[in-house]
Amino acid sequence: MTQITPQPGIMDIALYVSGESRLPGRSDVLKLSSNENPLGSSDKARAAYVAAAGDLHRYPNTDHAPLRRAIGEVHGLDPDRIICGVGSDEVLQFVVQAFAGTGDEVITTEHGFSMYPILARMVGAVPVTVPEADRRIDVDAILAAVTDRTRIVFIANPANPTGTMLTPDEVQRLAGGLPSSVLLVHDGAYTEFAAGADGGAGLVDRHPNVVMTRTFSKIHGLGGLRIGWGYAARDIIDVLNRIRQPFNLSNAQMAAAEAAVRDTAFRDRCADLNARMRDRMRNSLIQMGIGCDESFANFVLARFADPAEAEAADAALRDDGILVRRVAGYGLPAALRITVGDEQGVTRVLETLGRFMADRRGA
Ligand SMILES: *Cc1c(COP(=O)(O)O)cnc(C)c1O
Repeated sequence: MTQITPQPGIMDIALYVSGESRLPGRSDVLKLSSNENPLGSSDKARAAYVAAAGDLHRYPNTDHAPLRRAIGEVHGLDPDRIICGVGSDEVLQFVVQAFAGTGDEVITTEHGFSMYPILARMVGAVPVTVPEADRRIDVDAILAAVTDRTRIVFIANPANPTGTMLTPDEVQRLAGGLPSSVLLVHDGAYTEFAAGADGGAGLVDRHPNVVMTRTFSKIHGLGGLRIGWGYAARDIIDVLNRIRQPFNLSNAQMAAAEAAVRDTAFRDRCADLNARMRDRMRNSLIQMGIGCDESFANFVLARFADPAEAEAADAALRDDGILVRRVAGYGLPAALRITVGDEQGVTRVLETLGRFMADRRGA
């Protein structure tokens, strides 16, 4: 046993913490801790999933061609430059495995998604965390952190858990300012919630060293299905496909995802509801005296006076059966990330927080 040692970096990995889903003794839990879709998923996706049950004995196709074709048609992209994975997490893992190794540097940002440093350490690379500017990614700080050992830069845009977003000009300046030997990963998990955003597709078309990742977990409400995709220059996709397991996606996954991506009416309905409820959340929080940046995603970051107040607010929400996300692990100890729910869900959160803040301010 003592002779069996893991690869460098692996024991430095802090396990990913997912949003809580249960409150003991409560049956009316409102889960707003994992940025799930309050409308569930498309009826068409569920029907396709059920229909796929007839084919459980069949191996899936290895090239994902029908799904890639559907994604390509809906998003106006070349299917030959698309790769699909077990969540976008798997696509991000392919990128790290293929392009970084022991001692290489992988740049992430102060409040960046916690999977990025986990993936870097998985291959023995060193995560380098650069500061943000008031919870926004700072392009100059990233460019200043690049060294000759930098292999990959990760940004989520919109970002999680801050919800903030860079302008197209800022992203362009980042892509243009990186050495051509550094890969920029533009994680577009929340793209569909940001009106007019293309997720980085245009950037990929202009720069051979950019990868866009997207997911079915957020607007399509298929987090439980585990499916995501990436888009990049053909030679990069060719590299990633070499380390992808041929049968990484099941028939049922691909069938449901294909139906989901084609159900643009459901997608648009989810985006509309989210935009309305997100505005309502932010305006109400600000009125209560809770800080809240403009969010471009399906959650808001509620900022309290200090970590103790955030903890007390979390306790008050839990008392009312509402689960949100503590984000101290993301360098935001005075904040809570709250997924935007449906009309009823948002009302419930705002009632609890309204009462909580009235009590605090009255005390
Ligand atoms: C939710 C999320 C993803 C999506 O992960 P999946 O593996 O596709 O479920 C990717 N990046 C960020 C920043 C996220 O918040």
